[in-house]
Amino acid sequence: MFALLSFLLSFFKTGDAPGESLSSPSVPASSNETVGLDAVPDESFRTSRPDIVGPDAPDAPFPIKLSGPVQHGFGRGGKDLGCPTANLPDDSLPPMIDAAKTGVYYGYAQVTPSEGTPSSLSDQDVCVLPMVMSFGWNPFYKNERMTAEIHIMHEFKTDFYGYDMKALVLGYIRPELHYTSREALIEDIEFDKKVALKSMARPGYQKYMSDPFFTA
Ligand code: ADP
Ligand code: MG
Repeated sequence: MFALLSFLLSFFKTGDAPGESLSSPSVPASSNETVGLDAVPDESFRTSRPDIVGPDAPDAPFPIKLSGPVQHGFGRGGKDLGCPTANLPDDSLPPMIDAAKTGVYYGYAQVTPSEGTPSSLSDQDVCVLPMVMSFGWNPFYKNERMTAEIHIMHEFKTDFYGYDMKALVLGYIRPELHYTSREALIEDIEFDKKVALKSMARPGYQKYMSDPFFTA
């Protein structure tokens, strides 16, 4: 049972080795002193979550800009949960590591073909699109490395490994949590997506869709 849950929980912990603890440090990203503490989502947190979070416009340290070619993760459950996550490369993470704690974030992302490479993406696929991002320690690497995984709220017809991805992180949703139920995890991911969309519907966020950081 635990192995099955470990597998399914990989949206927030891609890279978990089978059977490893799903620790969820909600500590500043620059410190891993308390890695190993579990934050179990209690019912009151889960039932009373607001559907709009953060200030009316991004506040420091946001916006945070990340970019790099999409990497293979560990292929362990993102798609099975209805939530594939495109992984950013390690060398793209410092802006996040330097400024933010681990957790789930919202913002916009854009996927584009690398220069000179033929593309299988449609015009809709290469638009600036809303996303949720999980940012955390990677137990597969003994909590010495971090991962940022982005779920773009859009139906892609094909995978886009190797394509360039830009992400503008605009706000924080919640800490990483240790789930013991698949249903609770899926419910919370769905709720995270609603929170992201509602939070970014505010005028102070909308303008970032046309930020010059993105490719016109
Ligand atoms: P991996 O462990 O390799 O990251 P996932 O099951 O998380 O595997 O799937 C991620 C891949 O799915 C991405 O790299 C991308 O190519 C593809 N993908 C398709 N649709 C999406 C989407 N809406 N958001 C993010 N990635 C997507
Ligand atoms: Mg993934």
